[in-house]
Amino acid sequence: MSQPVPAFIGIGANLGDPVAQVLDAFVRLDRDMPDTRLTGRSRLFRNPPMGPQDQPDYVNAVARLETRLEPRALLTRLQAIEVACGRRRDGSRWGPRLLDLDLLLFGGEVIDEPGLRVPHPGIAERDFVLFPLLELAPGLIIPGRGTVAALCRSMSCTDLQAIAEEARA
Ligand code: AMP
Repeated sequence: MSQPVPAFIGIGANLGDPVAQVLDAFVRLDRDMPDTRLTGRSRLFRNPPMGPQDQPDYVNAVARLETRLEPRALLTRLQAIEVACGRRRDGSRWGPRLLDLDLLLFGGEVIDEPGLRVPHPGIAERDFVLFPLLELAPGLIIPGRGTVAALCRSMSCTDLQAIAEEARA
């Protein structure tokens, strides 16, 4: 059987109870995917929305997986979890959502196929992806973009706020 590959998943939510949905996503990533286990999770961060501003703030986090799934099969499983969590694909880009799961990195692979690009496009410009990644894997290299640490240093400012989970009502 093939060796497990480390994969990083970006998690975001801004409808319903976003903190609960992100925490539930960690559980599902470990429990609901074959040949895959959760090996790390970042803190949760509150973050203003990208794109349209007339929507609630996002809660974002990153999960680290070890998986024997192929990248395409992994993406299909991620989309199944989104749907199980109530996600509706209405075609709006950057619109509000109950749960968004992005395949950020799959080992050191570079994939550019219809419907699947890895590293995820935009990864190197998004503070809500880079800072959680830095927590999980300080030495991580994003193929073609350099180290996560250097990319974080290059961000002039960030509106990210870490959420103290134990302080939740
Ligand atoms: P989103 O609305 O952000 O969930 O985007 C989902 C669409 O992006 C789907 O059609 C995916 O096939 C496509 N996509 C391409 N690359 C990726 C990736 N690395 N992770 C998640 N979705 C991706």
